[in-house]
Amino acid sequence: MKKLILLPLALCAVMSATAKTAAKTTAKPAAKAAQNYTIPYAVAVQRADSVLKLMTLEEKVGQMVQYSDNKLTTGPESKDTARLSKVEKGEVGSMLNVIGAVPTRIFQDAAMKSRLRIPLIFGLDVVHGFRTISPLPLAEAASFDLKALENSARLAALEASAAGIHWTFAPMVDVSVDARWGRVMEGAGEDPFYGSLAAKARVKGFQGDNLYANYTLLACAKHFAAYGAPVAGKDYNSVDMSMSHFYNFYLLPYKAAAEAGVGTFMNAFNDFNNVPCTANAPLVQGILKGDWGFKGFVVSDWNSIGEMVAHRYAKDNRQAAEFAIKAGNDMDMETSAYHENLADLVRKGDVDIKLVDDAVRRILTKKFELGLFDDPYRYCDPKRQEKITLSKELRDGSRDMAKRSIVMLENKNNLLPLSAKVGSVALIGELNDSKEDMNGFWAGQGDINAVVTVKEALAKRGVKVNYASGYDLDTKKMKDLDAALDAARKSDVVIVAVGERAKESGEAKSMANIEISADHQKLVTELAGTGKPVVALVMGGRPMIFNTVRAEAGAVLLTWWLGTEAGNAICDVLFGDYNPSAKLPMTFPQSVGQVPIYYYYKSTGRPYNPKERHSTSYLDVPIYPAYPFGYGLSYTSFDISEPVLSHTITKVGQPVTVSVKVKNTGSRDGEEVVQMYVKDMVASITRPVKELKGFEKVSLKSGEEKTVQFTLEDSALGFYNNDLKFVVEPGDFEIMVGNSSESLKSATLKVILAPKVR
Ligand code: BGC
Repeated sequence: MKKLILLPLALCAVMSATAKTAAKTTAKPAAKAAQNYTIPYAVAVQRADSVLKLMTLEEKVGQMVQYSDNKLTTGPESKDTARLSKVEKGEVGSMLNVIGAVPTRIFQDAAMKSRLRIPLIFGLDVVHGFRTISPLPLAEAASFDLKALENSARLAALEASAAGIHWTFAPMVDVSVDARWGRVMEGAGEDPFYGSLAAKARVKGFQGDNLYANYTLLACAKHFAAYGAPVAGKDYNSVDMSMSHFYNFYLLPYKAAAEAGVGTFMNAFNDFNNVPCTANAPLVQGILKGDWGFKGFVVSDWNSIGEMVAHRYAKDNRQAAEFAIKAGNDMDMETSAYHENLADLVRKGDVDIKLVDDAVRRILTKKFELGLFDDPYRYCDPKRQEKITLSKELRDGSRDMAKRSIVMLENKNNLLPLSAKVGSVALIGELNDSKEDMNGFWAGQGDINAVVTVKEALAKRGVKVNYASGYDLDTKKMKDLDAALDAARKSDVVIVAVGERAKESGEAKSMANIEISADHQKLVTELAGTGKPVVALVMGGRPMIFNTVRAEAGAVLLTWWLGTEAGNAICDVLFGDYNPSAKLPMTFPQSVGQVPIYYYYKSTGRPYNPKERHSTSYLDVPIYPAYPFGYGLSYTSFDISEPVLSHTITKVGQPVTVSVKVKNTGSRDGEEVVQMYVKDMVASITRPVKELKGFEKVSLKSGEEKTVQFTLEDSALGFYNNDLKFVVEPGDFEIMVGNSSESLKSATLKVILAPKVR
């Protein structure tokens, strides 16, 4: 009895010490200081340890358990008492899918009834916005604008944190070169270098500089590891690759996220090196927590502990729990394998209590850093939620991000931009008016009614719209073709939407055929047959194949799924209020048989040579993509000079500056993404034909010229060899600069060994 009274008091002492420090620091000016107040990591660990000392084994295990609220859109009326009562008993450390200032308060109230009153941490997939939806992450990546990516994540954090959420399961940083994999929509594309910078920008956006601020979210880099490389592009499938390939490509963005201070990692569903990632000790204990010294905590993916049984790696949940904790997995999302087995595993001596203590320490540390021990309700404020949700700041941010994400793929005879005086538009295709689709796949809490469609945006601009469907999205056949052709004939220009539906990309949405349906493409041919200029809007969440559309349409804009402000952003580009500046973050194939197709392929012993029968190629389709990585057009034109190197010979360890002049040679102001690629001419392992190692997005007025400089360091010249050692090997390197991975000018750099110091 005595113990029971003393323990909460001890905890209260911990909490009030924290509050006192907060009060001291928040002296003046109150608001500013409160924002800057932070609990440093070392202090948070100390406090976590002081709580850990008070905990029973069951309470420790409780912190490692995460459950989902069954009703995704719970309100105050939530009757999910089973989970609530587990929370009251201290058997749960985290809930996911409890959303809103009021529902989170209900669950937090339950946690405050537990013996130690350890607050819950609420997690949710805030992937591309919360109520205000921003473009799909892959679309955002097309902006090649790191500040914009950071800002988009910051705004999502602002909105979600006001609804009681502490922790987002984002960013997804999985590299993928396979457009069949439905989850490419959720990442930054095929390139590990860019993916690493995007990962850093997004982590910074979500977490800000201070986890304690109640308008930031704890981020989660996922899915560790190599989830983006399932065999045949089939979601959850096995992953098999050489370790040096893993280190040189797939591992880099996770490392970047760790370096950016991401607070948590999520395991992947797939196996890697023949072991499910959730049980993969070399990955989690070895690389993540060992080599990189990651101090945050690792959560399993949804039931990925239990799924080890289906993998036929563990015989039951108990064994799966044992494998997971030993591999370094700290929190169990939804399996209940920890809940039901971990305490017993420790008591029977199968699991060392030190592993449990380490996991709990990591989890409590984050709860301290978030300020939850100071005030468990600091994120549940209905007034703030109401004020911030779908506010102008959020909508403006979403529109800005959306227009930066649109890639112009074709613009024959400068059909675009349309004149503001265009008389009438034939708007063809239901995707042009589908609010649900515009929001995309991971738009869980996105407000569908708030979405502006293309049809609405055109009407708002006062454009006369002759609308027709032309195509049935369910049967994938043309419908009411005559009405569509009539609309085209009586209009000045045709805008037709083609592509896939939002629900056709995302998790468990792999496709063996990524070609836009024959009828959808034929519709474009029919419309072009009227003689009216046709602008095709390609909508979807992955690289698709649409060779007919490319050939028949006068202009093609890749408009992905752009979120709440989709229609407005598309019109901003159509009418030239914004000059498109985005570039493809993934290679677009001409044929599905080319997949996986990506720009950093290797030469092979028989490089492609159209004159040579025995060279790497296909008999039936071309070897080249439809559009290469880094490609995208603008309403103006740019000239990029040959690269000039500060030294043509350098020593290992001595950086070289690469300079190019970039000139806007057209009549409009615009932005260009200047890209630098490196090719190691001869190396001790086979290396790609080129790798992106730098880029800069420059804004240039018509006629303006700027010099862009890149610093070429060892990190850009070296690689992990087959011993997994990072090496820079002396020899020649081709340094290429241009505005896409296929449009480059080059210079040669010789790297020599630094003379040994005697
Ligand atoms: C996904 C994760 C997601 C989790 C929680 C899983 O199915 O793979 O990315 O964070 O569900 O919703």
